Amino acid sequence: TFVPLDSDFYGFSQRLAPHEQDALTRVRSFLAENVADRVDALWEAAEFPHDLIAPLMATGVGTWAWEETRAAENSAVFRGFLTLELSRVDASIATFLGVTEGLAMGSIGVCGSAEQRAEWLPKLASGEIIGAFGLTEPLSGSDSARGLTTTATREGDTWVLNGAKRWIGNATFSDITIIWAKDTADGQVKGFIVPTSTPGYSATKIERKTSLRIVQNADITLTDVRIPHALKLENANTFADTAKVLRLTRAGVAWSSVGVAVGAYEAALAYAQDRVQFGKPIAGHQLIQDLLARCLANITASIALCVRVSEMHDEDAQRDEHSALAKSFCTARMRETVGWAREILGGNGIVLDFGVARFFADAEALYSYEGTREMNTLIVGRSITGTAAFV
Ligand code: FAD
Repeated sequence: TFVPLDSDFYGFSQRLAPHEQDALTRVRSFLAENVADRVDALWEAAEFPHDLIAPLMATGVGTWAWEETRAAENSAVFRGFLTLELSRVDASIATFLGVTEGLAMGSIGVCGSAEQRAEWLPKLASGEIIGAFGLTEPLSGSDSARGLTTTATREGDTWVLNGAKRWIGNATFSDITIIWAKDTADGQVKGFIVPTSTPGYSATKIERKTSLRIVQNADITLTDVRIPHALKLENANTFADTAKVLRLTRAGVAWSSVGVAVGAYEAALAYAQDRVQFGKPIAGHQLIQDLLARCLANITASIALCVRVSEMHDEDAQRDEHSALAKSFCTARMRETVGWAREILGGNGIVLDFGVARFFADAEALYSYEGTREMNTLIVGRSITGTAAFV
């Protein structure tokens, strides 16, 4: 039976349908039994656990979002709680899924033709193939709507891609990477499903990261990469189409940041009940209770906001600024929360063995990827003022 997390203080997950609660319970057990004990060592070694892909995907985590792959109707709120459960155990494993299921499947689900969706979504959902998403470039991060320099040139039934991408998650081992490039004919951003075995495509791992070390990020170069027109995403024809994908996935990162905050808070609470100073567990000191209550308030406010933004997705009412606000607000609250959790552990807060340090470090990547706090704030600012400050 499903047990809501103690940190779901207002019990939002109790509203989920029974089959959704069962699915959450199954995934929570899988993570506790197969993932939780391994992630600190993997983080330290900066290694991705390839052996976990098949059993993780067999839990069905990749299948829920699209009608081509899901076994039953389900809500975006449920999929948000799924992301929270994954992130509460490890933000890197959640990011792996967020890239292949969120960004790659999302690009095909939102921008693909019926044929493209039917061909690629099932293979990605089952983990038979792994996807990556290449938007960011060495010289273009926040301004990727305008600043992309990767080009796509149509030659009859073939597109020729040239350029470079940076930071691309899963890209050291992905089977396909969605590449966003400017069409040399009309200057608009288009999306392409690029099999990574295509000649001219190469990916090199980014080493020495201090955040999300388990995620394999890569620099990609594209040198005269030739792909058939059938692999151009049919409905990805301007950056506004890319933004539709990001609208989905930014709400996912908001949920993920709540999971990171929950993971750190749970570890800090357990530590505070155990660690004795001045003759009693530190959990009994007023200022520690203040930090714990602040963490819980951040988590509770963020869950409430995420629940609503996901409901808006299901109501077809979610706009870019709604998920941008959720992403910027929740990641900022996460950053405070992991900092307070670290503080509660004193010196042990910076040692991997005590359960907070990994979340503390990983929070930094979530804070900046899928649009920095500044850029998501400016998307909200554009909506409330009618003036875009970033063009
Ligand atoms: P910049 O754009 O150079 O920004 C630097 C700073 O300037 C930021 O604080 C930014 O907010 C600020 N800034 C920029 N412009 C403005 C402005 N107009 N007003 C105010 N402030 C501004 N990308 C992908 O395409 N695919 C991936 O799979 C992927 N995975 C990632 C995984 C990790 C771990 C990381 C760290 C990044 C990943 N990214 C990925 C890239 C990520 O989306 C970018 O890092 C992010 O968009 C910011 O771009 P940038 O790092 O180039 O920073």
